[in-house]
Amino acid sequence: MNIAVLNETSSGEARVALMPDSIQKLVAAKASVSVESGAGLGAARTDDDFRNAGASVVTDRKALLADADVLVCVSHPGDEVFQAMKKGGVVLGFLRPLDEPTKLVLALESGLTTFSMELVPRITRAQAMDALSSMATVAGYKAVLMGADYIPRMFPLLMTAAGTVPPARVLVLGAGVAGLQAIATARRLGAVVEAYDVRAAAGEQVRSLGAKFLEVDLGGIQTEDKGGYAVELSEEALKRGRDLIAEQAKSADVIITTAQVPGRRAPVLMDEDAVNGMKRGSVVIDLAGATGGNVTLSKADEVVERNGVTIMAPTNLPATVPVHASQLYSRNVTAFLNLLIKDGELHIDMNDDVVGPSCVTHEGKWVNQRVAAAMGTG
Ligand code: NAD
Repeated sequence: MNIAVLNETSSGEARVALMPDSIQKLVAAKASVSVESGAGLGAARTDDDFRNAGASVVTDRKALLADADVLVCVSHPGDEVFQAMKKGGVVLGFLRPLDEPTKLVLALESGLTTFSMELVPRITRAQAMDALSSMATVAGYKAVLMGADYIPRMFPLLMTAAGTVPPARVLVLGAGVAGLQAIATARRLGAVVEAYDVRAAAGEQVRSLGAKFLEVDLGGIQTEDKGGYAVELSEEALKRGRDLIAEQAKSADVIITTAQVPGRRAPVLMDEDAVNGMKRGSVVIDLAGATGGNVTLSKADEVVERNGVTIMAPTNLPATVPVHASQLYSRNVTAFLNLLIKDGELHIDMNDDVVGPSCVTHEGKWVNQRVAAAMGTG
């Protein structure tokens, strides 16, 4: 079984899908791995690092793809890659099947089997493959550093001979994986942190990190599904949250928003009035930019200024921490690949409770029902 790793081509992407330590494990499992020359440089890994781990390093991208049984990538590799692979080949990566299903039509038509890391079920058995959580952890951490770097003040409380410097106030909206990491990072830097989430279970986690959990009376409605994920709220419930947030935003120096509802547009948590009520010099970092944003004024990957308040919506923060983001992602995809390798050969068991649900296309058909429905064939 030949596993291929390419240079990522999307703009600003510095991660690599497999790091040398993972390659060693795959080679030990009798797979062979080929890496395109230079693929690891963004993540501080040279061609020699990959060779030493047991991979072959290839400069001819077309030849590498023609030989590949499995291509592992971080993001969508591009149509020409799908066309260059052999029928029955496997592609594994963040393929955005629910957001951009049409971009996988060529993979379907080329007879490729595609697995999307976004679709890996969040069950205990698949925890080691949960790349969404890995990347959310990196994004939550980096968002706080961006905020700390941007504001014209310091984070910690300082008592000096020249007087006392009060701590920065950080408000985190959405206390899932990214939000909790943001809270922990902001606390370590000495900020006073408050957080809001619609899931009651988040309250205990927020408090355990030393932050204050903001409670909103949502009238006892159901806010989460069986799997523990937030559900789409009524406009009335969203408004109650927004009113509280607008009030708290007045005293915040940094606001980090991470609220998402799986498969839906991100909920709007801050409107223009809420931003207008903020202090000059404060900053909002909207981590839901890729799914529409939590802040009406935010624009994906742009910096917006409004009355001295800066609003940013970076959509790929993990790529700005490429070494550790690659390391975590590489381990996640390697855990998934281990489900596909038997005695060094490719073996796809669609009845497996992780493999089947993660599949988007197989043998010329849309396997995932939601994607099939989005493509009008479900
Ligand atoms: P997510 O990225 O879908 O959403 C981020 C947060 O936004 C969630 O906490 C959600 O409750 C919150 N949110 C949604 N709508 C909101 C609104 N209107 N106002 C305020 N907050 C809102 O979620 P996630 O971070 O991927 O994970 C959320 C939950 O899933 C957590 O409990 C996490 O521990 C759990 N989880 C479980 C596993 C597993 O079992 N393997 C893996 C990852 C996450």
